[in-house]
Amino acid sequence: LSDKLSGILGSLTRRGALTENDVNEALREVRRALLEADVALEVVRSFTDTVRSRAVGAEVIKSVSPGQMVVKIVHDALVEMLGKEAEGIDLNAPAPVGILMVGLQGSGKTTTTAKIARRLSDRMKRRVLMASLDTRRPAAMEQLAVLGKQVGVDTLPIVAGQSAVQIARRAMEAARLGGYDVVMLDTAGRVTVDEALMAEAAEVRAATAPHEVLLVADSLTGQDAVNTAKAFDGRLGVTGIVLTRMDGDGRGGAALSMRAVTGKPIKLVGTGEKVDALEEFHPERVANRILGMGDIVSLVEKAAETIDAEKAKRIADKMRKGAFDLDDLREQLGQMEKIGGMKGVLGMLPGIGKMKAQLENANLDDKVIRRQRAIIDSMTPKERRNPDILKASRKKRIAAGSGTKVEDVNKLLKMHRQMADVMKMMGKGGRGGMGGALGK
Ligand code: GDP
Ligand code: MG
Repeated sequence: LSDKLSGILGSLTRRGALTENDVNEALREVRRALLEADVALEVVRSFTDTVRSRAVGAEVIKSVSPGQMVVKIVHDALVEMLGKEAEGIDLNAPAPVGILMVGLQGSGKTTTTAKIARRLSDRMKRRVLMASLDTRRPAAMEQLAVLGKQVGVDTLPIVAGQSAVQIARRAMEAARLGGYDVVMLDTAGRVTVDEALMAEAAEVRAATAPHEVLLVADSLTGQDAVNTAKAFDGRLGVTGIVLTRMDGDGRGGAALSMRAVTGKPIKLVGTGEKVDALEEFHPERVANRILGMGDIVSLVEKAAETIDAEKAKRIADKMRKGAFDLDDLREQLGQMEKIGGMKGVLGMLPGIGKMKAQLENANLDDKVIRRQRAIIDSMTPKERRNPDILKASRKKRIAAGSGTKVEDVNKLLKMHRQMADVMKMMGKGGRGGMGGALGK
């Protein structure tokens, strides 16, 4: 942690829930960042609305300002919207699997076709055939053939005078006969979306029934991205997006716009002119880039982590020493929701994977947790430190005091005993057999 960041961490201490004012103020900044990143206006609007409703009332973490907290919420929402998990090219269909590449001219279709073909053949050991359907520019077919040689992937022999659809049919047929796994169809593009372009691509799609229709889009296009994406998706039914020129200095707002408008996953990212400049899509990175506030985001994450980790560690230490009493259990119950339940604490201890799953299954929802805390609250300090003294009469008193039944008190005590036992065992280095300790 740099000095500067720790300085900020130390100086901001406001706590509480985010007010509408906090949120609106921070969202003004966020809005500006999104627009600067070239996120389309309509997307900015719906996105900030979503975030506003999510942020107002949210708890502010200690040592973080409300503004930073909002940015963190924005960041998380952005990552979620961009698609949390990387989705690769889907080849799950009978061979030859068709992949149709569509997009505006100059977006990087031909280059990306070769990049993907290379990846599928090198990494995934698929036999790939590429075909250029760009009949308007003879040089385009030549370009793909040259790239094919470069990456060691076959291209369909060029036959003069055929239409795009004819070439596409020939490619699928050649792939069937030649035992290829994948056929990549690189279409012609126009500078702007036009009807002839769409009609041709639609015809190719109908003739070849490709399993993937990948929209190749230049990440530097900004506001136009939305219209382009809408037009292509509406007419062709895009299955995924490839964003090119992410090596440039654009901030990648197009990624968000495209994703928001089509709802289709961003599958890959082009990061250079060379044939190996193709990467998985990392929503985190793009979110940081769009916000241009990476520092703040990592600061807030750091703060959240530190706070939770400190508390969790203190309890884990006690557990390890076998000194885990009901006061600790009470604090732990309070922490549960915040750090993702018991696993937050257990995650700090080694070799506990199996038990973790069982605890997650244990019925520890909010209501149960509140009840358990109420039971502990009804105990005297002495009882909390030494639960062994809890006999029938005390239990009855505690149950009455907490509005529960003796049965509930017993359940809580059993849970505590099991946890303390397991921890003690772990402290002695014993790892065997504890998987079942909490399952009963
Ligand atoms: P197409 O008209 O859609 O087929 O586009 P091309 O594949 O011919 O690409 C147009 C130009 O963009 C070429 O000069 C490519 O080298 C370049 N290009 C494609 N993808 C990328 C990328 O991810 N980064 C950079 N910097 N250049 C790219
Ligand atoms: Mg091309």
